[in-house]
Amino acid sequence: SAITNHMPTSELQALDAAHHMHPFTQGSGLAAKGARVITRAKGVWLTDSEGNEILDGMAGLWCVNIGYGRDELAEVAARQMKELPYYNTFFQTTHVPAIALAQKIAELAPGDLNNVFFAGSGSEANDTNIRMVRTYWEEKGKPEKTVIISRWNAYHGSSMGSGSLGGMVGMHAQGGMPIPGIHHIGQPNWWAEGGDMSPEDFGLMRAQELEAAIKELGENKVAAFIAEPIQGAGGVIVPPATYWPEIQRICDKYEILLIADEVICGFGRTGNWFGSQTVDIRPDIMTIAKGLSSGYQPIGGSVVSDEVASVIAGTEFNHGYTYSGHPVASAVALENLRILEEEKIVDQVRDVTGPYLKGKWEALADHPLVGEAKIVGMMASIALTPDKASRAPFAADAGTAGFICRERCFANNLVMRHVGDRMIISPPLVISETEIDTLIERARTALSETL
Ligand code: PLP
Repeated sequence: SAITNHMPTSELQALDAAHHMHPFTQGSGLAAKGARVITRAKGVWLTDSEGNEILDGMAGLWCVNIGYGRDELAEVAARQMKELPYYNTFFQTTHVPAIALAQKIAELAPGDLNNVFFAGSGSEANDTNIRMVRTYWEEKGKPEKTVIISRWNAYHGSSMGSGSLGGMVGMHAQGGMPIPGIHHIGQPNWWAEGGDMSPEDFGLMRAQELEAAIKELGENKVAAFIAEPIQGAGGVIVPPATYWPEIQRICDKYEILLIADEVICGFGRTGNWFGSQTVDIRPDIMTIAKGLSSGYQPIGGSVVSDEVASVIAGTEFNHGYTYSGHPVASAVALENLRILEEEKIVDQVRDVTGPYLKGKWEALADHPLVGEAKIVGMMASIALTPDKASRAPFAADAGTAGFICRERCFANNLVMRHVGDRMIISPPLVISETEIDTLIERARTALSETL
């Protein structure tokens, strides 16, 4: 018989555990403790199969920027599916949704980032970037410039290419990553790694690791540096103010292409359209996904400068995905951007709800468990510590404080994620002040139950 929302949760969980392999999940654990079944959502609220109303402090996976349940997107999708559900953009073919979306992204993106290569996800877009920057240097007559520098603890996706760009050692340990030609340097995580240095000195030191790596690898060998303006899945690591200006200086000096991975930071998350504007950098390529469609359809892409695009245009770039510029995904993304723009959602984050959340979030630092509390726009983290003065981590075998806190959040109907002992949020950008109050109240309850 049909599997529906009306089945008992335990039956759904048993079928799920029997047949469905989940990302980033130990499958055997699901058999013991079933997955939470989400049945519907509206605004910032999820409903599960038990009828619980859960405040989604993560906007799904950092993606539902305009909130759940916007009928306009469903209507656009239905219209586009009836008119042209699919056609490709290979071999000198195009269609209106892809044209219109590329034009709109070019209009919103800073500087001369006027060209879009579409993908189905952030991982695919970062794979595109690896091939694109190497092809760029080859076409420029510098084929030896192939190495891409990234950072430890970065997350750039989980395909072979993007997972190799990422600096997640747990991922590298499985299945043969990283691929050759990727080099990692330290991240600007002052709280965990800054020791006795001031945040400013530490930020500068971590940026200068890029220069040291370039010299070590050979000045003529490095193609690009990739980083998120503000590291998201690594734990919402906000870099010291000294970090990005120095990175930009080094990229300029050594002719290194700068790739800003905007998959999380893009489309309003940091209070500007792009995180690159918030940290004041001039990327040559931006990776986009997630907030581009608010997660209503899978779509990503690389937003490319006129200089890089014109060089790539000089050859046949033997690369692309069946769903590059998918008409339904493109039409939905365009409607999402219309809503973000017309409802002034990005301005709202920058001027109203972002500052409101900032006040409440930073006040969490008065809790005995909370060390630093960091926030930019609508992405925020707190570091849990047994000793604020020394910034000590929890001992490894008790290093489950974050996990316990996340479970307590869940029990209090709040989705907040943990990365080690850092708790992170990234709510839908449309969260109201009242909902922010509820989020903070539930976070405080969860923290007091974690102690
Ligand atoms: N880049 C960043 C910064 C991300 O956070 C993610 C996903 O979380 C990706 C890339 C990969 O995107 P996707 O999961 O759409 O492949």
